Amino acid sequence: MAEERRRKMIGLQPEGEIDWSEYRGIMVVVEQRAGHAKPVSWQLLGEARRLADKLEAPLMALVMGDNVGHIADEAIGYGADIVYLSDAPELKDYRTRPYSRVCLKVIRTYKPEIVLMGATYTGRDLAGAIATHLPTGLTADSTQLDVDDERLLLASRPAFSEKMLATILCKQFKPQMATVRAGVFQALPFDTGRSGEVIEVSEDMREEDIVTKVLEFIQDAKQVNLEDAQVIVAGGRGVGGPDGFKVLEELARTLGGTIAASRAATDLGWIDHAYQVGQTGTTVRPKLYFAIGISGAVQHVVGMQNSDYIVAVNKDPNAPIFQIANYGIVGDLFEVVPLLTRAFQERLT
Ligand code: FAD
Repeated sequence: MAEERRRKMIGLQPEGEIDWSEYRGIMVVVEQRAGHAKPVSWQLLGEARRLADKLEAPLMALVMGDNVGHIADEAIGYGADIVYLSDAPELKDYRTRPYSRVCLKVIRTYKPEIVLMGATYTGRDLAGAIATHLPTGLTADSTQLDVDDERLLLASRPAFSEKMLATILCKQFKPQMATVRAGVFQALPFDTGRSGEVIEVSEDMREEDIVTKVLEFIQDAKQVNLEDAQVIVAGGRGVGGPDGFKVLEELARTLGGTIAASRAATDLGWIDHAYQVGQTGTTVRPKLYFAIGISGAVQHVVGMQNSDYIVAVNKDPNAPIFQIANYGIVGDLFEVVPLLTRAFQERLT
């Protein structure tokens, strides 16, 4: 009796009255800013395609924004079968209320059994708001996904100060929800020949009813975007101090890339924590990753091992980083890196 009262209070249907069998398929909420989709959305569609095929269920994408029809077409090219498109001026900038209203409407109408979003600032905010309203469970910050024979989502994430990997299941509610770190999965190659269905979704919204207003978008001058970088030049304790990163910056600039760091360097205060790559930092997947003066501890490697090419520069020939590097240079970084920079400058100009 007490349990029934509790369920009523938090807006849950009485147990036994819910028919979850109507919930089918996987839905990826595509994140975009200023008309450009975040790569994590395509990475998620890639992994969700595998899971949807395993479940023999459709793969859906939800695209929200203002003038974002082109992103719906992109979602099909990246693996979606059906795209729900909500295109409205009220959705120009991300705001929790209007975005969660559209999301809730689409989920309640089309009933996906699994909903996935990027574990970005926006994804974390939106997923939490939706899970609370539905209500259902949410596994935040997942790094591995799978489904079992009972169609349960197995969402794994680091737990207990990142010392173990916990697999979390949501057995009693639908949809099962997870946010997933950027850079963990790989997007499928974009296929212009794929076909899919775009279904427009409208939600009755009036700007005057939305209490949050975006007055201005100010780009943070120090904003670090490691997740989307194609070339990363990362430095570790071996760079010796904040000035050591200047040598790396020159190489990064030459290659149109960005600098990054190991936790040793960020903990020492040589560079901001936003630049940290690894288990407790950002997971990256660039085309080219330089690990300079970085030993190759497992907690660093898990965050960059999926880079297309890894170049390591280290004065210790036995440094573990050489075991995963495609190219290894044994030497003092203060001699090697300027030589690399000059060689690239000569070839690129
Ligand atoms: P070191 O291990 O000290 O290596 C420095 C390297 O520089 C050495 O190999 C040395 O030979 C080389 N070197 C020195 N001078 C030169 C020179 N002049 N030229 C060339 N090479 C030189 N670490 C992360 O990076 N990211 C994480 O997210 C992260 N999360 C963690 C989470 C937990 C729970 C724990 C316990 C640890 C975590 N760590 C993380 C820390 C990790 O275990 C290592 O301590 C850290 O990665 C080491 O950083 P490093 O390679 O820069 O330093």
